[in-house]
Amino acid sequence: MKNIFSVIVVLLLLSSCGAQNTTTGIKKETSILETNERPKLVVGIVVDQMRYDYLTRFGSKFGDGGFNRMINEGFNCKNNHFNYVPTYTGPGHASVYTGTTPKIHGIIGNNWYDKEIKEMVYCAGDEAVESVGTEDRAGKMSPHRMQTTTFGDENRLFTQGQGKTIGISLKDRGAILPAGHTANAAYWFHGKDEGRWISSSHYMTELPKWVLEFNASTHAESYLKEWDTFYDISTYTESGVDENTFEGGFKGKEKATFPYDLKSLSKDNRGYDILKATPYGNSLTADFAMAAIKAEGLGQDQITDVLAVSFSATDYVGHNFGVNSKEVQDTYIRLDKDLERLFEYLDTTVGKGEYTVFLTADHGAIDVPSYLSSLKVPAGYVNNKERKETFNTFLEATYGSDAIVENISNDQIFLDRAKVKSLGLKLSNVQDAIAMEQLSYLNVSKVYTATTMASTGFYGGIEELLQNGFNQKRSGDVMLVNDTSFISYSKTGSTHGSGLNYDTHVPLLFFGKGIKHGETFNKTVIPDIAPTISALLGISFPNGATGQPLGFVID
Ligand SMILES: [Zn+2]
Repeated sequence: MKNIFSVIVVLLLLSSCGAQNTTTGIKKETSILETNERPKLVVGIVVDQMRYDYLTRFGSKFGDGGFNRMINEGFNCKNNHFNYVPTYTGPGHASVYTGTTPKIHGIIGNNWYDKEIKEMVYCAGDEAVESVGTEDRAGKMSPHRMQTTTFGDENRLFTQGQGKTIGISLKDRGAILPAGHTANAAYWFHGKDEGRWISSSHYMTELPKWVLEFNASTHAESYLKEWDTFYDISTYTESGVDENTFEGGFKGKEKATFPYDLKSLSKDNRGYDILKATPYGNSLTADFAMAAIKAEGLGQDQITDVLAVSFSATDYVGHNFGVNSKEVQDTYIRLDKDLERLFEYLDTTVGKGEYTVFLTADHGAIDVPSYLSSLKVPAGYVNNKERKETFNTFLEATYGSDAIVENISNDQIFLDRAKVKSLGLKLSNVQDAIAMEQLSYLNVSKVYTATTMASTGFYGGIEELLQNGFNQKRSGDVMLVNDTSFISYSKTGSTHGSGLNYDTHVPLLFFGKGIKHGETFNKTVIPDIAPTISALLGISFPNGATGQPLGFVID
């Protein structure tokens, strides 16, 4: 034992006397952690609904300063996936920044049925706080439903509150959940007839001067202009024809074809909210992020700050026009320019090599099923109305009433457990009977019960993804999985939510301080991101993190 102790003492002495290494002849490669030189700023970028293949499909149309700069200078994790169901925006943003899944962080959907209060709740909704910057209820938001910390929270704790955290997104949940509980601020865009960035009393009592000035400027208004393709539309050979039957479009314009006159269309499309569904929503987000960097002095000292930016317009465009549309291609070409602008701004304000960026998505998206089936790919739409009618008939025949089911949402069935008890029935038996009934329905491919999820450990397949998304306190009694490429949605546009590759496979790029240059096809998962940033900063992992730090991306 004595020998071991003396070896440890020698090792400790060596490690605490780094300066003497050269005199002892031990050549030591210093890593970012040992030099204690953390990046001055970590910028987390989440692109809403960005599929992995957008990097490759549109890659030849991107410049050198945006996505391709991250790939050429940084690390590209090419096989990065969500590892839970459901793949929605709220759970996505929470998982990226907390390093875990809905099972632990509790954000089980955008909206979900709250079993305790027996009402639908919104992931970021909070009646206990007030709007800041608007009279509208749009500011009554906070991260209170998220049950664990983000890496930004851990950085705040580590730096005794000296490292700032700010979250920015068109969507409230895209700003609030990434920023975490201890954030200095989260800002989101309130459209309608106001067109301004707002916040809530969770963070502040009034908007800072720079936000008021930004809101008073003509930024938002200047984007209510014509939206035409950035390059000649005939060069957009990586997407489908502009006029097709698989797109939604804007109210007040018959065809979903370029160009779009946003100023005149804004009247029928909720005023400034129309910007959210165009690439200019992303440009406005980039403008606001740069204003925040400047006014808040982000990355101006050795204490690491965190800026979480989510580009949400991509999701609205995808929902409206679909994965294969010219509109989606143009939105990504323009986002690439906005990223270039943002990185150049960071180079000049924070300094080249002084900041670290990661970029990922909150979920992917499916090719429009009606388009897929036109190409003979098995795909289609779930008939919810028919399903519900058949189900209610079954419930009445079996339990005397359909009231035994309280709610059906997010492909989960919530039972009235008090009623189950009062009927003298065993909960797991009712769950099993309903699961068997549901499995017999058209386009239902798998069904699992809460009892199974709580009593069995799954280590692979869709079962593992369901389990990672299953929160015992918040999730339903029976979980349904639809056939591959079958969705519950309008027949135009794309959506997301499943555990299949089109929804789970998303980009993961790192670049900047402390990041190696390289790429991998090894599988990485979304909850790995936050522990990786924690490792880079030498701070505690988020308190519920289940992911692993990706050591191979750290220099
Ligand atoms: Zn979406």
